Amino acid sequence: MSTDSIVIVGVGHAAVQLCASLVEAGQEHRVHLLGHEPELPYQRPPLSKSFLKKADEPTQLLREASWFEQAGVKLSLGQTVQAIDRQAKTLILGSGATLGYGQLVLATGTRARTLPGWPAHASNVRLLRSAQDARALRAAIGACQAVTVVGGGFIGLEVAATCAALGKAVTVLEAGPRLMGRAVSPALSAHVLAQHRAAGIGIELATELGEPVFHEGRLVRLQAPTGAREVDLLLVAIGALPNAELAQASGLACDNGVRVDAGMRTSDPDIWAVGDCAQFPLGSQRWRLESIQNAQDQARVAASRLLGGAAIYRPVPWFWSEQGAMRLQMVGLTDAGPLQTVRRAGPQPGALSLFHYQQGVLRCVESVNAPADYMVARKWLESGASPDPKRVADAGQPLRSLLPLA
Ligand SMILES: Cc1cc2nc3c(=O)[nH]c(=O)nc-3n(C[C@H](O)[C@H](O)[C@H](O)COP(=O)(O)OP(=O)(O)OC[C@H]3O[C@@H](n4cnc5c(N)ncnc54)[C@H](O)[C@@H]3O)c2cc1C
Repeated sequence: MSTDSIVIVGVGHAAVQLCASLVEAGQEHRVHLLGHEPELPYQRPPLSKSFLKKADEPTQLLREASWFEQAGVKLSLGQTVQAIDRQAKTLILGSGATLGYGQLVLATGTRARTLPGWPAHASNVRLLRSAQDARALRAAIGACQAVTVVGGGFIGLEVAATCAALGKAVTVLEAGPRLMGRAVSPALSAHVLAQHRAAGIGIELATELGEPVFHEGRLVRLQAPTGAREVDLLLVAIGALPNAELAQASGLACDNGVRVDAGMRTSDPDIWAVGDCAQFPLGSQRWRLESIQNAQDQARVAASRLLGGAAIYRPVPWFWSEQGAMRLQMVGLTDAGPLQTVRRAGPQPGALSLFHYQQGVLRCVESVNAPADYMVARKWLESGASPDPKRVADAGQPLRSLLPLA
């Protein structure tokens, strides 16, 4: 392959957005997309939500096969990249073949974390990352009465709410003192906990999982000092690890992900990284985010750079999660300092928005079933506006009226 070729490893959200941005720019680079998964690139968010509800629900494709053909993008599915030879500027593929690159983009995402010390395969213990995982989980949910979810993060709670809606008895076991503890404020954790419990989901916080007891390839119970817990189906949803081994083995700088600069370039000037696997600078810290916004916006920045532009990634990150009747929307980031939180009631019972200020400046907003307030807050944060906290708290006052929007 000639030196003007761009090879992208991974066929997820970041990789496909990067292709789309390159194609939209109309440049004459040859683009080759390679991914480990055998199926056409698809949306991951529905896998813990609508996809689990109906046995015949298909995946939602990011692009049809014909789009790649028409765009002249070569798509190689079911191809795992085993190694990068940076001297020779080639990739070593699982098939043993080699592939040259001019510029290389790593969009390798993350993989689900497993429980240390547990055997790799038990028929009723599941992980959720890919469409293949989701199909297996869906079939298992259909065949069980009770679901135990280990991990009270976004994916665990989404699956818990979906299973509860399907009439299953659901228990969530969370090791930490609150739900979604790494990603949301204590006030939002408490609100979501109350809503899930009211919907009949059993949630145990600061809980010890206990020793797993297996019989004939199945997990039958968890044996904790406080007693035994029978298991029908168990989902392990304890977070994700970046797929950074490929980068690390080739000598690229890595640190909880592949280290990139604000233009998504790694420590090798011809290699870039985007999406869940990339660890990037923002403000005084380095971050690695797992969200669609992050994957897509980083891909846009990388496309600009690959085409000679000077874009930098300086986002106001946003995220959403659907948990039963709750639609959670979050925008902004807070750092380690103290927060001043202002509550604003939403339009219906159970709806609210939490406005988090640091040193008098609005930094982050979390909403539950309050999309209109969330959209106003997002525009404020994107434009650096910071309304008076006292006025924000007054739910009788439309948010839009507090500060003019661009
Ligand atoms: C169940 C679920 C629900 C989610 N819900 C939400 C949500 O509601 N909102 C939200 O914002 N985000 C959500 N996310 C997160 C979101 O899906 C990710 O942030 C996004 O997929 C990241 O895109 P990516 O391209 O970086 O990685 P991925 O989409 O993970 O794609 C990476 C691809 O690279 C492939 N790959 C890895 N290593 C290699 C290799 N060596 N060779 C070849 N291929 C390789 C992988 O197989 C994978 O196909 C959810 C994720 C999951 C799993």
